[in-house]
Amino acid sequence: KPFLVGVTGGIGSGKSTVCRIFSILGIPVYAADDRAKWLMANDPNLKKEISSQFGEKSFLEDGSLNRAFLAEEVFSDPEKVKKINALVHPAVGEDFKKWTKEQSAPYLIKEAALLFESGSYKELDYIINVSSPLKIRVARVLLRDPHRSEDQVNHIIDQQMPDEQKNELADYVIKNNDSKLILPQVLEIHQKLCALQK
Ligand code: ATP
Repeated sequence: KPFLVGVTGGIGSGKSTVCRIFSILGIPVYAADDRAKWLMANDPNLKKEISSQFGEKSFLEDGSLNRAFLAEEVFSDPEKVKKINALVHPAVGEDFKKWTKEQSAPYLIKEAALLFESGSYKELDYIINVSSPLKIRVARVLLRDPHRSEDQVNHIIDQQMPDEQKNELADYVIKNNDSKLILPQVLEIHQKLCALQK
């Protein structure tokens, strides 16, 4: 049975970029944040629960998720963030479990921004934190998501566990800054993880 490796890191740290390299190496990657969005829009049970707790406005007339409404609802209300997470996290957890059974590889990756904050790190065997300086992260996100303001990005960062703390909790740290290449770091960790398998 393949073991489970979490890849985490704050917004704009480069998690998805790192995971693209693991994926090229043949390692299956479960992108939990993307999958959560997909499940919110497509899982009938989850949709029903969201509608009943946040109102019918949570979905548009065509049945798709009303992201603007939900974002506005939970923005700056930690209780509502907890409430929506309590619906989405179990759905993602189950979906992930099902996914792991369909994969075959030395190890599998779960990528998520809030592995530590959500507690889901406990179900994983090793954790990799992707670490980048705050300034670089903000600049990268503003470049990638032109619809976001600097204030919005900083607000998200304030709600995430500080990077230093994640580095301490992680088994491996990948530094994604202007003076280090991520490719050799990923290869080194991949080799170590493959050796653990034997
Ligand atoms: P989020 O939590 O928002 O999903 P993320 O941690 O997955 O972010 P990425 O999407 O991988 O981060 O990276 C953020 C942006 O920065 C992307 O546009 C990506 O292409 C770019 N980026 C990441 N690493 C580097 C790098 N080393 N050099 C240049 N650009 C980079």
